Amino acid sequence: MDLFEYQARDLFAAHGVPVLGAVVVDTPEAAVDAAKSLGDGLKVVKAQVKIGGRGKAGGVKLAKTDEELTEHAAAILGMDIKGHTVHKVMIAEGAEIAEEYYFSVLLDRANRTYLAMASREGGMEIEELAVERPEALARIPVDALTGIDAAKAAEIVEAGKFPEDVKDQVADVVQKLWQVFVAEDALLVEVNPLVKTPDGKIIALDGKVSLDENAAFRHASHEELVDHAAADPLEAKAKAKGLNYVKLDGEVGIIGNGAGLVMSTLDVVAYAGENFGGTKPANFLDIGGGASAEVMANGLEVILSDPQVKSVFVNVFGGITACDAVANGIVQAFQLLSDRGEAVTRPLVVRLDGNNAELGRSILTEANLPLLEQVDTMDGAASRAAELAAQGA
Ligand code: GDP
Ligand code: MN
Repeated sequence: MDLFEYQARDLFAAHGVPVLGAVVVDTPEAAVDAAKSLGDGLKVVKAQVKIGGRGKAGGVKLAKTDEELTEHAAAILGMDIKGHTVHKVMIAEGAEIAEEYYFSVLLDRANRTYLAMASREGGMEIEELAVERPEALARIPVDALTGIDAAKAAEIVEAGKFPEDVKDQVADVVQKLWQVFVAEDALLVEVNPLVKTPDGKIIALDGKVSLDENAAFRHASHEELVDHAAADPLEAKAKAKGLNYVKLDGEVGIIGNGAGLVMSTLDVVAYAGENFGGTKPANFLDIGGGASAEVMANGLEVILSDPQVKSVFVNVFGGITACDAVANGIVQAFQLLSDRGEAVTRPLVVRLDGNNAELGRSILTEANLPLLEQVDTMDGAASRAAELAAQGA
């Protein structure tokens, strides 16, 4: 999960990384009040969107007066930056900048380690620097067990060629940023620019943090960082029910067991759809190993609450969870859904194969559920589901 800059800033502050005072607002009027609470002097108005390059897009502006502040806040709020609409701006104390540096630490999957990157030439041109003069951007592997201790920090500062007068401060900040990385279970912590002020102080002026969602269970406080407004409502509903669901832009709802099977089901349905006016899969939904009526009912409910869905393809390959268990789950799910007032209203194509497929199929045949058809092959079932979607469209 990527964080907004102001959220990264808050985490930095909590771990002792030097940052400037800031307040987040969503109207130009509130910007002036926010600025007052930060005291006199230069202010900066910064678009809060989860994308880089805000400065170049006009989303970062300095303000010397209340008039400038209101003007910039009004211009930036509602702005579109690379497809991201600005709903909030951060009003921060403006820094005087003598030099801009770069520092980041991230999970380096390819090398199975952590990686720190540092440069005394930070700022808005860092991407160009990385391409044109990669030697100016130092890359220092960080061992997971020892992390960034004093020795590693000194190595980073040396490799990044930081000026003598700031080495100690930068080494200290880099260790604190590592504390953020570890304590918050981050995948990325980036500061660009890390600035030196004319009076020689080091400040993290911009922060980018990406948190590891797999570690969410040990960070109750991270729930507050989720941008619920941006979440797809169906995905949010699925997440609340513990389902592994991704909304797509098609008409054939998909339920399968196992991520690999569901992925190939998407391909097969998209391919079959070409014969029926280009119908496409409407979602990814992996119900995983179990086959409880509850999970099946929840999955169907989420899929059917997508108005774009015209048919549903349930594709199950029985393994440890055998097809008869899945079939019983489907039968009970129909009952559960009608009890919830969410009865199945669109056609369902079910393909059962693998362990106890025969038994599973006969359970469904006997149940004689309305709107449910069985097709024995994956290609055949995909084709039928695509056809039904085209008819329903
Ligand atoms: P980004 O473009 O999305 O990375 O946004 P940044 O927060 O990094 O801001 C872009 C640039 O604006 C920085 O590299 C600075 O040069 C400048 N900037 C940001 N905040 C301040 C500030 O407080 N004072 C001054 N003088 N410049 C700033
Ligand atoms: Mn930046």
